[in-house]
Amino acid sequence: MKRAVVLGGSIAGLYAARALSDHADDVVILDAEDTGEGGTGEACTGRGAPQRHQLHALLSMGHTQLERWFPGITGELVAAGARLGTGPEVQFYVDGALKAPVADIRMLGATRPFIESRVRRRVAALPNVHILQGQARGLLFGAGRVRGVRYSAAEDTSAAPGHGSELDADLVVDAMGRSSRLGSWLLRGGWDHAPLDRMRIDLGYATAVFRRGDELPGTVVAHASPGPASGYQPTLSEPGAMVAVEDNRWMVVLAGYTGHRPGRDPGEFLARMRRCVGPLREIADRCAMDGDVRTFHFQESRRRDFTRLRRFPGGLVAVGDSVASVNPVYGQGLTLAALQASCLAAALRAGAAPHDPAWDYFRRAGVVVDAAWQVSATADLAQPHVKGPYPRGHRLVRWAGDKIMEASVIDSRVNQAFMDVVHMRRHPNTLTRPRLLARAARVLSTR
Ligand SMILES: Cc1cc2nc3c(=O)[nH]c(=O)nc-3n(C[C@H](O)[C@H](O)[C@H](O)COP(=O)(O)OP(=O)(O)OC[C@H]3O[C@@H](n4cnc5c(N)ncnc54)[C@H](O)[C@@H]3O)c2cc1C
Repeated sequence: MKRAVVLGGSIAGLYAARALSDHADDVVILDAEDTGEGGTGEACTGRGAPQRHQLHALLSMGHTQLERWFPGITGELVAAGARLGTGPEVQFYVDGALKAPVADIRMLGATRPFIESRVRRRVAALPNVHILQGQARGLLFGAGRVRGVRYSAAEDTSAAPGHGSELDADLVVDAMGRSSRLGSWLLRGGWDHAPLDRMRIDLGYATAVFRRGDELPGTVVAHASPGPASGYQPTLSEPGAMVAVEDNRWMVVLAGYTGHRPGRDPGEFLARMRRCVGPLREIADRCAMDGDVRTFHFQESRRRDFTRLRRFPGGLVAVGDSVASVNPVYGQGLTLAALQASCLAAALRAGAAPHDPAWDYFRRAGVVVDAAWQVSATADLAQPHVKGPYPRGHRLVRWAGDKIMEASVIDSRVNQAFMDVVHMRRHPNTLTRPRLLARAARVLSTR
């Protein structure tokens, strides 16, 4: 194809642009924000993705995908101050108990802007990729397909909808995040928007940064969540996570639902850290907080299911949060964006024509989104304030999940299977395999 235009130059847009650079003569990334000198993203204000400054964990599959698309980037990031956590350096706790170690876990300790700026630098250096600052205003339709976009250039962001410049494209990618207006643009063009699934969760997040010294040398990531023993409530330990990041800092996040959402007060934040697992308590006691506590309110998980549409214009795909944005506690968003780029590449390699409706891409990406949704929705439905919708077979999946979770605290093999799902390396259905359930039952009966 001659030209692909990617709307949104955050993480999903960058992955999509990288994948498309193998298939298009010219790839244009259009982002409403100033992505920084040379497109490094360091000047980003975070308006487009206000969650950028919250702790972002990169799952094992996300790390594999990062290396797949940007070979050698781990070394670059680590040389610049990131930490790569493996094996026992990655610690997961349930109801305050440290889970059995999993040898092949790998998680990168770095802030999201740090990872994203390096990714953006790599993408910007590709000879056929160009980053343009401007706000997408709508799609151009013709002959049953999207044939380009209308946008206002950075110097003209006040242009009324319907005005501005135009860019022709063989393929347009919506990577505009949760606030994407793709649905209304499709309606305006005479097409349907994709059905939206929502799950109200009312989650509060608070992140703070601490100076890192020589404490906890064997820890890169520590993650604590409530589980079956507490009825998934923060009674045995506060839910939270910490990651060793660049510039010798710890990043710590606390989470809570409805009336238990964490606030901005540093004293309260520290008090709550002291009700969490050992590593977070140690940071609260030994390290100085650096800067303010930043909060974020995440009201609902959402996903748009393009595979349920009967008709769809050619020349258009969607990736990242514009498709699905699930409870961030499970840390799936960055990995999902990378996997969707891989699905797009696979569909194009399999012969998908950019001007045709992208059913093959949406089917492949749908499998990955379904898996992420299944993990987050099953866990969220364990919260008494989450009222559904309940998927078919929820009781069985929930029962199996509880048993596996309990056994994973004791048994490395069960934990390996569980972590493979948490880290998006395997489909959640693998947790209902009879052999795994039998092993979990055996482990629990010998407690
Ligand atoms: C509190 C919180 C914590 C999270 N923690 C994690 C975590 O630990 N691990 C993890 O993997 N994920 C996490 N996530 C999810 C992750 O942040 C998202 O999945 C990820 O940002 C999605 O990337 P994206 O590129 O699709 O969208 P975004 O990052 O939202 O970017 C959208 C981009 O589109 C641009 N844009 C929007 N409209 C236009 C327009 N009209 N024209 C041009 N450009 C436009 C914006 O400027 C922006 O740059 C978290 C999310 C939240 C809310």
